Amino acid sequence: MMSYTHDNFPEKVAQMPASPREKLNLLGLDRAGLEAFFSDLGERPYRARQILQWVHQRGVTSYEPMTDLARKLRQRLAEITMIQPPTVLKEQVSADGTVKWLLAVAGGNAVETVFIPEPRRGTLCISSQVGCMLNCTFCSTATQGFNRNLTCAEIIGQVWLATQALASGRFGDRRITNVVLMGMGEPLLNLNNVAPALALLRDDLAYGLAAKRVTVSTAGVVPGIDQLRECEEIALAVSLHAPNDELRSRLVPLNRKYPLAELMAACRRFVDHDRRLRSITFEYTMIDGVNDDPRLARDLLKLLSGLPCKLNLIPFNPFPGTPFRTSPMERILAFQEVTRSAGLITTIRKTRGEDIDAACGQLVGKLMSPSQRRLMVQQQLARQAVAV
Ligand code: SF4
Repeated sequence: MMSYTHDNFPEKVAQMPASPREKLNLLGLDRAGLEAFFSDLGERPYRARQILQWVHQRGVTSYEPMTDLARKLRQRLAEITMIQPPTVLKEQVSADGTVKWLLAVAGGNAVETVFIPEPRRGTLCISSQVGCMLNCTFCSTATQGFNRNLTCAEIIGQVWLATQALASGRFGDRRITNVVLMGMGEPLLNLNNVAPALALLRDDLAYGLAAKRVTVSTAGVVPGIDQLRECEEIALAVSLHAPNDELRSRLVPLNRKYPLAELMAACRRFVDHDRRLRSITFEYTMIDGVNDDPRLARDLLKLLSGLPCKLNLIPFNPFPGTPFRTSPMERILAFQEVTRSAGLITTIRKTRGEDIDAACGQLVGKLMSPSQRRLMVQQQLARQAVAV
């Protein structure tokens, strides 16, 4: 698929090849990208606003219904562009209402997207890469290795698909109120594609989510945290998992490159950029006998001292082949008691979708080897071609 973002245009749109394989996917252009695209076409910038609403708010994937665009423009757009969301390979619905989609993306790959309904909100967890290269030792996705970055169209396409699926009413009266980039991959290692996706999530003409309802989660890519300060106003979550370098380097090997002192300094810079709005959520996976000692909770308090933040304790979600076990709940509660009684807001994440392997990376990893995955994607795409 052609990579075409607002800072990477071909010289002239008119020279773009019309082969379907190389059509530009407008799903992946944010407002700035669309405005530049239409400017290259000799069209007025307001066309960008029209396309954003048609595609992201009305869920349209062909140009025919866009009757506020001239017929000639619609024909031209159909020749050189497409609106192509990812294809659903599998959909699973948990007894607790959690929905998980396995999606085919270009190159015979698959990624996961999970919708988690709660009484007053609906959170969509999306992926930013196929696999992940960071190799955290407690993570199912890490066992699959890294394949490639997702394009912006593939990232925002997950939100598009879930929005359409929920609008169908098949899952009751549900909608997306929050989006978290906590699925497969490290979003800050794919910021070129993640940044326009964040812009679309925040844009009132696309998904219109408030800053605090869009969260980027990182394992601690320090330069990425600094770059993120200059992007859209969004919330930041940092996967911490340990309060000292020795233990953290064992759990999150990236810590050897960006140790805690550097990571915490980047977190302070992020918060200082706009103290009125910003606080950071630190994620801490609770692994039995590894990082759940209450003494580590006290070390954590020292590490986070003075930083506007909250702590989210996540019971480890086991997967086949892992040597780790989930901390018993009484140990999680004891850890929480230490941090909470010192004034740090500390939540315990509820485990959701256990019956459908909803933990990040589990479905892809458990159901399929890479060759099975490729075969399943090819079959699905062949079925689509027949249907067309
Ligand atoms: S926890 Fe996140 S950053 Fe670490 S390997 Fe898994 S997907 Fe990658």
